[in-house]
Order: sequence, then C-alpha cells, then structure tokens
Amino acid sequence: MEEDKTIKYKVDYRDIKYPRLEYKTGTLLLVLPKNYNDAASLIEKHKKWIIKKEQIIAEALEEAKKKTLNLSRTEKELKTLIHSIIKEYQQEFNLKVNSVFFRRMKTKWASYSQKGNLTINTLLKYLPERLVRYVTFHEMIHSIEKRHNENFWKIITKKYINYEEMEKALLMYWFLIQRSNELITYSNVQNNER
Ligand SMILES: [Zn+2]
Repeated sequence: MEEDKTIKYKVDYRDIKYPRLEYKTGTLLLVLPKNYNDAASLIEKHKKWIIKKEQIIAEALEEAKKKTLNLSRTEKELKTLIHSIIKEYQQEFNLKVNSVFFRRMKTKWASYSQKGNLTINTLLKYLPERLVRYVTFHEMIHSIEKRHNENFWKIITKKYINYEEMEKALLMYWFLIQRSNELITYSNVQNNER
C-alpha cells in the first residue's frame, strides 16, 4: 500500500483562467485563479505526478550531500564561457539571442524573454560546464518554443537525449547551493578582494 503522507504546498492566487501546479525550488506551488476553492481535489487529481516530483526532489537532496561546488570559476570566466556557447549554438541551430544579461536570481538558473534577451544566473559559475551548456541550450530553445510542451522537449532531445538527467542534476545543484550559501558569500568576498 502506498504511504499516505501529507503534501506540503504554497498557494498563489493570480488573475488566470485555469489552475496549475509548479515546482520551482523544491516546494509545490499551486497557482490558482482567484476564487478557486478546491485545492484538495486539484492535489488529488495530480497526486501521481506530485509523488513522482517529490521522489525526484528527495533523491536530489540526498545526492547533494555527496557533491561539492566548483569554486574556482570566476564570474568573468562564466561570462566568456556563456558567450562562446551561445555563439556555437547560434551557428549550429540558427537560434536568436539579442542581448545577454547576468545577475543573481533566486528562483531560476536562466530565462529567455519575449524580446529575445537571455538572462543568466551568475550562480551558474559554480556548476560543471556540461550543465552550463545545457542551461544555455535550454533557454535558447525557448526562442522557438516558449512553453515546456512536447514540442519543446522534442527539440531539446536533438542535443540532449538525457535532458531528464540534466534537469535532475540542476535541481541537485540548486539544493547544494542553498546549503552552501555561507561558503559562497565567503568566496565572493575573497574574489572581490583579489
Ligand atoms: Zn525552460
């Protein structure tokens, strides 16, 4: 029999038509239309999906205990790397990127705007190059397909057949960074003093 555990979640009411479920930083978020009052059946309806997600998160948390961050790459090196990756994928896949911005973000590794601008989370400097490459490619594919729908993942598969593994690794690194926050602050101080 399946273990009946309580599902923790946060609720955000927005001016939308249909409810949706999101996992952004390890916690379930219910994005609900205003006046929506049946969170319980929504959760029940998506229980299988929720349990699968919770499982992935638990595994990522466990995995994060064994990993360490790459503290040697500077922000300048990250920027150079990202620009070269963009150039490479632009040539290979004919993808459009207007400008690239770098800033510290609290909920995502990167984003792609309607105007074709790419914003990169500077925390990516702590990650292995294969994941930096994946994040950049993933965002650039949003220039073709905005949403994470079937078509999006189909295009991603052209370069990353193992994208699920990459997404999982990113989640693991997200937890690792949360845990290493003090360490990161310290290493930033060191870098600035250099
Ligand atoms: Zn995406």
